[in-house]
Amino acid sequence: MVFAHDTEQSLVAAVTLANTAEPPDTLETVADLDAFYERFEFTGRRDRTRAELDEVRALRPVLRSLLTADRDTAADLVNTMLAEARALPQLVRHDRFDWHLHAVVSDAPLPTRISVEAAMAMIDVIRADELSRLGVCADDDCEAVVLDLSRNRSRRFCSTACGNRNAVAAYRARRAADA
Ligand SMILES: [Zn+2]
Ligand SMILES: [Zn+2]
Repeated sequence: MVFAHDTEQSLVAAVTLANTAEPPDTLETVADLDAFYERFEFTGRRDRTRAELDEVRALRPVLRSLLTADRDTAADLVNTMLAEARALPQLVRHDRFDWHLHAVVSDAPLPTRISVEAAMAMIDVIRADELSRLGVCADDDCEAVVLDLSRNRSRRFCSTACGNRNAVAAYRARRAADA
């Protein structure tokens, strides 16, 4: 494991959410947001309204900037996000989760909690100077964010779909060169 479990979980959630904005947009309905909320085991307040959905959608470019920023810019963004949310780190234990950090109360709006959770996770990335774990997909036509948590830092594509497409293209290029 590169980072603590909850940090990795939060990073994967932030990257996944940012990448839903890549075409085709996959966060268009309250049901889409339900699926995200359940997949990443969020707890606490859910409004299930269009307004909440729109705010989460609007958060995506902010997360993308954070996740693809250089280290100093990322530090500034984290500080801004935490200040805007009036974050106050507290150790909490709830549901099946042992002691971990929350920095806003569980009835704060979901977009605020997602934003603060991503900012808190980025604190670990910045402190460990591991920003190179984050980047943009190596596929020429894909702008999705890539999070590389592999031991040998081998991940270059955002998804198996992008990885496979490029493997096929590389194979064809080799075949053409051999012919
Ligand atoms: Zn929690
Ligand atoms: Zn990709």
